[in-house]
Amino acid sequence: MNKPVVHLVGAGPGDPELLTLKAIRAIRAATVLLVDDLVGDGVLRYARKSARIVHVGKRGGCASTPQAFIEKLMAAEALKGERVVRLKGGDPFVFGRGGEEAQHLRACGVDVQVVNGITAGLAAVTSLGAPLTHRDHAHGVMFVTGHARSQDAAMHWPTLAATAAQGVTLVIYMGVATVESLQRGLLEGLPASTPVAVVQHASLPSQRQLLSTLGDLAAAVRREGLGSPAIIVVGDVLHAANAIDLGVPASLAA
Ligand code: SAH
Repeated sequence: MNKPVVHLVGAGPGDPELLTLKAIRAIRAATVLLVDDLVGDGVLRYARKSARIVHVGKRGGCASTPQAFIEKLMAAEALKGERVVRLKGGDPFVFGRGGEEAQHLRACGVDVQVVNGITAGLAAVTSLGAPLTHRDHAHGVMFVTGHARSQDAAMHWPTLAATAAQGVTLVIYMGVATVESLQRGLLEGLPASTPVAVVQHASLPSQRQLLSTLGDLAAAVRREGLGSPAIIVVGDVLHAANAIDLGVPASLAA
């Protein structure tokens, strides 16, 4: 028998046209698929009719499947000889615990093959027509989470703001729930006029977004009723956003 293997596959931000050819090949070959919440249904049409599809997210209002159970199930199915694909939203190694899953599988003697996906932060910024870097505005990008495991591990937003102020675009995942506190922290190191954007359901027909300023961020999120899953972008690259389509405030349309 071949060595057992699990493919950790990035399903991209939702639009099936953003899947890689490698991802489609792996999905087609799978006999068992463990699928995250944020994976769009359009992606699953590449699965075989006979494949067993296990939704391990919070669909249908049920509690999400415990991480330890998912890890055990993946390893057990691979050890039985199934062709296992773990489909994860975006890229498997950008948040979303892909690293923990790979460690567990290797510890069980299961090989891990990773297929990159387009991470939500990239898709969100691109959908606004803005670049992530720009020779005039930004010399780097930081991908950070607004949702830390514990208070101790939480981001120190004033420090990040100081780095962003040197010309680094800030792309924040899972930040909507904590938008007030991250706004407060960022304002310690960045001007209130810094452009921000929030993009919900990037790349999907249901995409919604807003463009505003850091000083107005939390109020704008509330006003527009944007919620998870969403990406918050902070930085001067947003000056290049598609201002007319988005109805950007006149103060930003420089
Ligand atoms: N591995 C994923 C991220 C998982 S963490 C990736 O690379 O994209 C989950 C968070 O990702 C969500 O809370 C949200 O902040 C972001 N996210 C995922 N899909 C998204 C989408 N289509 N639009 C906006 N944000 C998304």
